[in-house]
Amino acid sequence: MEFENSVLSCEDCGEEFVFSGEEQQFYYERGFQTPKRCKPCRQRRKAARTGQRELHSTICAECGIETQVPFKPSGDRPVYCRDCYQKRRGF
Ligand SMILES: [Zn+2]
Ligand SMILES: [Zn+2]
Repeated sequence: MEFENSVLSCEDCGEEFVFSGEEQQFYYERGFQTPKRCKPCRQRRKAARTGQRELHSTICAECGIETQVPFKPSGDRPVYCRDCYQKRRGF
């Protein structure tokens, strides 16, 4: 069976995405249904399901390096990088 690339539109963001022949074969062999969402949306949903939270870049209040935190920094509380956070907790 031959599979050709097809263009689908994502149910979540409405963007068109390519469902490649290779992917179609993969899905077909495993009996999966045609995806309804583009890859970024699928990954976002998967992350939400598995409890992974989106990371936000911010600057450490202690050493000034850029760090990523799993919450949106509100600005009214200092945010620390992992190292400084652990250092501070150690006191
Ligand atoms: Zn999408
Ligand atoms: Zn730091």
